[in-house]
Amino acid sequence: MSEPLLEITGLQSGYGDVQVLWDISLVVEEGELACIVGSNGAGKTTLLRTISGLIKPISGGVKFAGKEIGGLSADAVLAQGVVHVPEGRRLFKGLSVRDNLLLGAYLRRDRDGIQRDLDFVFDLFPILKERQSQDATTMSGGEQQMCAIARGIMSRPRLLMIDELSLGLAPRLVERLSEALLEINRTGLTILLVEQDVMTAFEVARHAYVIEIGRIAMAGTTEKLGDDPRIREAYMGL
Ligand code: ATP
Repeated sequence: MSEPLLEITGLQSGYGDVQVLWDISLVVEEGELACIVGSNGAGKTTLLRTISGLIKPISGGVKFAGKEIGGLSADAVLAQGVVHVPEGRRLFKGLSVRDNLLLGAYLRRDRDGIQRDLDFVFDLFPILKERQSQDATTMSGGEQQMCAIARGIMSRPRLLMIDELSLGLAPRLVERLSEALLEINRTGLTILLVEQDVMTAFEVARHAYVIEIGRIAMAGTTEKLGDDPRIREAYMGL
């Protein structure tokens, strides 16, 4: 079998003296849609921030496409093709939707490719095309989430990491965004989704890792984990 796109081994990470992640190991294969789920404060965001270079790991390995990226700067990790769509969307205030999207492509020089990807995200989320001149931060929460994901795609990543797709959004919008993720994944782009809403995550992802208090508590296919009584009781309210 070929090498995984992302391979994390024995990762310890945190903030200063506060260790949050303990011995995290996981793999994401090229082309798959995987998820990391867990309750509030379990360490999901800290894990994404460590992968994307915003936090330096204490120890352990983060290998991407066969190369060690643990400890590289956020810019260097982005240049390797890893994009992090942060919780809260973080769009640039005062900039239009179109400019926010183009900022996602700031490292690229392939004009034709940029235009093709812009057409792709406008097809995926037609509302962004309609609102392309509007200040991105004045849009609704769901539209901002679309814009943040589209901005991620504009950098033409090899791995798209999304922190909390569904946070604060109405069920109908979450469904729309879930469909979009599947569509993006069908183009061959690997996606790692972090979600508190386990039902939503399991509907789109094939593999899942469950984080509890900074450690991987369970891992497997979402089909199997979705039938596990512990998961159903603790995370799905079933
Ligand atoms: P949520 O879904 O609520 O964001 P999470 O699983 O993403 O939860 P993290 O945000 O990674 O969890 O937080 C994990 C732990 O790290 C928490 O105990 C949190 O208080 C702590 N933490 C987060 N950010 C910092 C920081 N900047 N400095 C110190 N501790 C932090």
